[in-house]
Amino acid sequence: MIPYAFEYTRVGSVDEALMVLAGNDNAKLLAGGHSLIPAMKLRLNAPSMLVDIAGISELAQISATNGTLHIGALATHRAVETSDLVKARCAVLAEVAGSIGDLQVRNKGTLGGSLAHADPAADYPALVLALDATIKVAGTSGRRVLSADDFFVDLFTTALEEGEIITEVVFPALSAGTGAAYAKFPNPASKFAVVGVAACVSVDAQGLCTEVRIGVTGAAANAFRASNVEEKLSGKRLDASTIATAVAGMADPDDMLSDLSASDEYRAHLCEVMAQRALTAAAKRAAA
Ligand code: FAD
Repeated sequence: MIPYAFEYTRVGSVDEALMVLAGNDNAKLLAGGHSLIPAMKLRLNAPSMLVDIAGISELAQISATNGTLHIGALATHRAVETSDLVKARCAVLAEVAGSIGDLQVRNKGTLGGSLAHADPAADYPALVLALDATIKVAGTSGRRVLSADDFFVDLFTTALEEGEIITEVVFPALSAGTGAAYAKFPNPASKFAVVGVAACVSVDAQGLCTEVRIGVTGAAANAFRASNVEEKLSGKRLDASTIATAVAGMADPDDMLSDLSASDEYRAHLCEVMAQRALTAAAKRAAA
């Protein structure tokens, strides 16, 4: 449980962090340290330098415009969980943040760190997919915006290029007639998602589904959209039997992870159960 030797530097701005990253091979950003430090202690990760960005206060801001909610990459899970702005504009985001780990983890862990780490069992990835969030990043060659759909590539692998920093995540505001919810089967010790499903649904005045997005985490190597279920629900009334029919067989055990927490077949079953719960709760909120 002792990491390999490494250098440490603390930076005060995004530009400074980019410069240090560009000038040091195998340097890594340090945000809350609640994924990176354990990985270093297990010697699964051995950066030559840690670039501590925790002091860049502009990256910890939470703000909103009329149509969007902006969460800085360094906003801790606890800050998101307790933000009145988040609770008012996107309650499900505060709920997901509040379901992560324990208080100590939530006090240190950050939204940007969670997305960049792309742990297959992390909670936020399902939600950023369901809410169609965008991820703003900065690199030495400029700034760009990535869609959640393009972000999660594989196990612990994202669309971030070498030396890029997540600066902010932008969530579209949930309009009237739209509801979102998250359901997870948590590991009892860590609270990581054995399987977690986030759903966001919009319904028209007749109660028919006009749009639905479903994000699944914990189940496979990376978080993914359950497009097969989304297609079956579009234009339908989201009652219990329609939802149950749509989620049946949604996940192929061959595509699922299998480990001490759950077999591939059990994970496929959990996908159905969690999707059913998330969709039912989201539909109820959309109709409220
Ligand atoms: P760090 O550990 O500092 O960094 C993680 C990785 O992201 C590193 O590679 C780092 O270089 C990179 N990085 C960090 N910030 C940025 C950035 N802005 N731009 C680009 N790259 C960046 N997570 C859950 O989702 N659900 C849980 O229930 C849960 N339970 C946990 C229980 C325990 C006991 C522990 C230790 C962790 C748990 N976690 C859980 C993980 C926790 O949420 C982590 O804090 C989070 O995944 C990583 O955020 P961090 O700020 O700590 O990142």
